Amino acid sequence: RRELYPHSLQFYLEPPTENISLVEFESFAVDRLRLLKVVENLGVSYVRSSDLYKTKLEAELRRLKFPYKALAEDDFEARRKDHISHFILRLAYCQSEDLRRWFLQQEMDLLRYRFNELTDCLRQKFLEHVNLSFEAISEDLKNELANELQASTPSLGVTKVREQMFYKVGLADAVDLFRARRVFIKEGFAYVPLKEIDAIVLNNYRTKLSKALALTARSLPSIQSDERLQPLLSHLSHSYVGPDYSVQKNTGKISLEQIDTLSVRSFPLCMRQLHKALRDNHHLRHGGRMQYGLFLKGIGLTLEQALEFWKKEFIRGKVDADKFDKGYAYSIRHSYGKEGKRTDYTPYSCMKIIMSNPPSQGDYHGCPFRHSDPELLKQKLQSYKISPSGITQILELVKGMHYQLACQKYFELTHDVDDIGFSLNHPNQYFVESQRLLSGGREPKKELSNSGNSQQKNNSQESTNSNSTPTSSNTTADAELEGLEAYFTED
Ligand code: SF4
Repeated sequence: RRELYPHSLQFYLEPPTENISLVEFESFAVDRLRLLKVVENLGVSYVRSSDLYKTKLEAELRRLKFPYKALAEDDFEARRKDHISHFILRLAYCQSEDLRRWFLQQEMDLLRYRFNELTDCLRQKFLEHVNLSFEAISEDLKNELANELQASTPSLGVTKVREQMFYKVGLADAVDLFRARRVFIKEGFAYVPLKEIDAIVLNNYRTKLSKALALTARSLPSIQSDERLQPLLSHLSHSYVGPDYSVQKNTGKISLEQIDTLSVRSFPLCMRQLHKALRDNHHLRHGGRMQYGLFLKGIGLTLEQALEFWKKEFIRGKVDADKFDKGYAYSIRHSYGKEGKRTDYTPYSCMKIIMSNPPSQGDYHGCPFRHSDPELLKQKLQSYKISPSGITQILELVKGMHYQLACQKYFELTHDVDDIGFSLNHPNQYFVESQRLLSGGREPKKELSNSGNSQQKNNSQESTNSNSTPTSSNTTADAELEGLEAYFTED
């Protein structure tokens, strides 16, 4: 067993070959997605080298039973899970450029954290293990070269040189550092400080993983022909892990009169936009009806209420009552599982909204953080009285393609809390959390701006290029929705 995983870290060069059950396949994959989502959130909220970042990430690794301390010898199960889950997500996340970019970014951040947590000795072993045989130089040699190392390595004073480990690296591996004049060169070797070694290791990993993802994408057709795996993989990349918002405890507890107020106080921006468009135009095209209709069902509208709500609005526009009853009413009953296949349809997750069916001219569905022009988004936020600094923060997150984090920021600003306290994956989750907060079910976590926030990252410095992606897997909803969409095609 130890031979199989000689090190707690790996570059995932060899795919697993053992047989595993579909149940384990899915649970491993879902856990890794949860972990990567946390990696993404922490990477945006905290400086990656800060103690808070490290503590929170270690807690998550422990919780999900991934290897969290390289020193633990007997963590075969954790290493196995790490290995297998990486390869499953590689299959799910090779399918598009966006998904590949997101996966790559989170895996790199995870490896960076784990590499930097290694002890000196284990780091050396890992470098050998992945054929990056950089040798740490001895203390004697370091003392001998101290002046040169200090003079050639920017931002390293004498003390830092003494504290840091230096590695002797072949020039080919240190080209970037050499070109930027950041390292001492002697007899064909660069003397690279530890803090730069992780950049070399990560570059190497990035190259390998990008190639592997491209190769995996090419072999997708053969995987897609496996009818057990294809739906699982597709849901892993498009769905969402979390409560099922189709089953609502509060069905019937919301009155139609409340919806206008709720749309301002507790709807996420996507739904607020749809509600306003519906009120203004007395109509929504089918993408909007799908997204908004299922959301309303999720917040507790009964079928009868939904029929009344849509009818009242539509007959104020160009649709007469007869046409509504014959066409639109059927599709609403269908979405409540009262027609056709009698499937109870699930409200869309953020991921589904962000990744599929982008709106075109005249549509109001989609995610405003993903699909709106930044200038229009800015105007909309201004009209909703978001402060200029809040708007800047949201636009920075949007620029970094962190759409759900931008939405979390919008939640914080509109609810006057400093910490949203949950990881947003679903518009109905936004609603539930907002209601809980507004009804006093959760104490607003208003922190003093100068207390304990020193490690909080200034988002404007954030330049990672990943998009916000929720964790996965409601294993039936998407497939079921395909059948439903046919009933909503009439504009
Ligand atoms: Fe809606 Fe999710 Fe986008 Fe927020 S992030 S606006 S909840 S789709």
